[in-house]
Amino acid sequence: MFKSNEILKDSIKYLKSHRKETPELDSKILLGFALGLKEKIYLHEELNVSEEKLTNFRKLLEVRVKGKPISRIIGKRFFWKNVFNINDWTLDPRPDSEILIEEILRQNIDKTHDHKILDLGCGSGCLGLSLLGEFPNSSLICVDRCKKAIIQAKQNSENLFFVDRTKFLHANWFDQNWTINLLKMLKIRTKFDIIISNPPYVKANQIQKLQKEVRNYDPMIALNGGDDGCDSYRAIFKNIRNLLSDKGITAIEISDYLIKPLKEIVLKEGLIIKNIVKDYSGKKRVMIIK
Ligand code: GLN
Repeated sequence: MFKSNEILKDSIKYLKSHRKETPELDSKILLGFALGLKEKIYLHEELNVSEEKLTNFRKLLEVRVKGKPISRIIGKRFFWKNVFNINDWTLDPRPDSEILIEEILRQNIDKTHDHKILDLGCGSGCLGLSLLGEFPNSSLICVDRCKKAIIQAKQNSENLFFVDRTKFLHANWFDQNWTINLLKMLKIRTKFDIIISNPPYVKANQIQKLQKEVRNYDPMIALNGGDDGCDSYRAIFKNIRNLLSDKGITAIEISDYLIKPLKEIVLKEGLIIKNIVKDYSGKKRVMIIK
């Protein structure tokens, strides 16, 4: 048997020597995971570790040193107020995307009402399911063009006990008439009160310049926004009028460098930008549209 504190000391040193930014936290999370614990391990817990578990832990450290993000190794990520399982087909939830939830909560929407929420390109479901947690009487439709992402979002919805309030639809906003099919399949007449989306918005020629952690581990389909980064916005904004109720709002994640073309697309579709919100690093991150 080996002692957990000794193991941690060594692994912290090892990750530091490979210039990992948070060697302590990474080590505690990975050791907890290798030991099958629900949480990270704490220094005050002096646990006995078998040789087999230690070998597993060392394998995880190697994977980390090669650049795999912690969330991808353990298959989950904390977002807003919950832990979300992720898979290779879902974007890793980003703290910056929480701005979108914060901004919706700032819109003075009555929380007790039965709002219809639409999450376009749901991935793990982190945005839509987090909103459901804030609006206890509302319902959510999650749309994604990737079946395996839908499977993951569904599982997260089950884990959060939101099954009764959530529906999932495998659809692609680049297809003609996809909104007509959406409304038909859902058998609903009323439109959506809140539409949220974090679409792929990285310009195709910028993908190679992304951090290794993003480029190698986030799904391309969730990142690549086409030549000017705006392909998905064009497809989504074209249909906002079909989907959004009169008093509804759309909150969509954006990138600072897309502001100019996005304003043109919004104008062309006869929509109005209510406001643009910056993230904590001062970059424009969320656009509210009516
Ligand atoms: N914010 C992500 C990144 O640059 C991009 C996510 C997206 O395209 N929706 O890492």
